[in-house]
Amino acid sequence: MSILTKSLAALALSTALVAPAFAQDGKARNVIVMITDGAGIETFRAASYFRHGALGHEVYDEFDTRVFAATYPLNTSNKPTLTNDGAVTFDPAKLWNATPSDAVFEGALGNYKGYFEGYDYARADFTDSAAAATALASGHKSYNNAINWSNDDKKLKHVGEYVVESGRALGVISSVQLSHATPAGFLAHNVSRNDYVGIGKEIVDSGLATVVMGTGHPFYDGAGKRVENPDENAFRFIGGPDTWARLSKGETAYTLIETREDFEKLAAENLDAKGQKFLGLAQNIQTLQFNRPGVGMGDRLENSPALAVMAKGALNVLDDNEKGFFLMVEGGAVDWAAHANNLPRLIEEQIEFNEAVEAVVDWVEANSSWDDTLLIVTTDHGNGLLQGPNSDKEAYQPIVNQGAGALPLVRWHTDTHTRELIPLYAKGPGADFFTENGKREDGLAIYEVGEDSQLWVDNTDVFRASLNAFGIKAE
Ligand SMILES: [Zn+2]
Repeated sequence: MSILTKSLAALALSTALVAPAFAQDGKARNVIVMITDGAGIETFRAASYFRHGALGHEVYDEFDTRVFAATYPLNTSNKPTLTNDGAVTFDPAKLWNATPSDAVFEGALGNYKGYFEGYDYARADFTDSAAAATALASGHKSYNNAINWSNDDKKLKHVGEYVVESGRALGVISSVQLSHATPAGFLAHNVSRNDYVGIGKEIVDSGLATVVMGTGHPFYDGAGKRVENPDENAFRFIGGPDTWARLSKGETAYTLIETREDFEKLAAENLDAKGQKFLGLAQNIQTLQFNRPGVGMGDRLENSPALAVMAKGALNVLDDNEKGFFLMVEGGAVDWAAHANNLPRLIEEQIEFNEAVEAVVDWVEANSSWDDTLLIVTTDHGNGLLQGPNSDKEAYQPIVNQGAGALPLVRWHTDTHTRELIPLYAKGPGADFFTENGKREDGLAIYEVGEDSQLWVDNTDVFRASLNAFGIKAE
């Protein structure tokens, strides 16, 4: 965008009643945030070893900004507490405490030994995906379960709303249900993530996003098989039977696409998209791939589009907006695989995510530029505390590479979320927000990362960095 069109856009916006004040340093036309749900640093590494037989070959390994982020919630209540009691604290130095521990972590799959006090700390007081999405999207920490809802029981304004008010377009896509916690955090507000019907209704009826894509299709099971007479519950992810009826009859703001062919046409620009809003509901009630039968790789579902295809399709629609856009892309099922301690499908899902990152990078380089688009790649929290086989004897021993195409050697230390520091990569205008606001943490050297990367920000900084890049002031 030229300086002239940029200042004209700013002028037009400053006269609009709803437009927030623009800061002078706004540089980015587009911001893209990509979230692999529930991935610690060794999750990223497991996929790299399997794909490349080595670290350092993923596109984000080349990004200038490579730091870490804290993910802890305000509190671990499942509803607003209206008080500061029970607020979670966080001290990264406690993560590295190698004092032996006799504690036992009781997981859903079984018991996990403590081994070290640092592990106990990492496995305590962790966020859920709702509080994490609220932090990333609204800049506010809240209780677990909150979808842009404060601990004072009030609605929180999220980045998607700021972006749409500024005249830009919003896109949100996920490999899991579009009303699941992470996508909901960029689209909706709710006191509880479990109110899928309410969240689904808000997504469809608000028409806030120009593109929404995910799963949650009432007429297909988790194996992608057609279900002829679904019960009412099957409609929950899309806002209930009434919302579905209006959506499928074309009575909402959205053009509905469902088949893999239509997702691929949108990605290849072979579908007339001009002036339309799209809701892409892949033919699965659960996830694009993870919930198919079996526990290994292979025999993938034919009727699900790839996350990379969904991302390309979304970008083709969003880039029609001359003022720019915000896009959130979630690889949602990495978390589901970690909850199951399923290493093959964890790696499969992380590769699916990495391929989507590559598609986005290709789009930036072919259709935009690193002067115009800020790309942030991160996760919302760790899951599984995945480490190497010797991590029972020595704290934080890394996973062991077995070469490309082979599963690395690992040890799981939990089957749920953690409050470990998680990786955050960024490239483009405003990426340096994270290095400028990062706090030094020498303990991160345990991950064998360079000194430039031994910094941590808070997950709420993703919201601040996004608004800063656009030059939008938070209210
Ligand atoms: Zn999550």
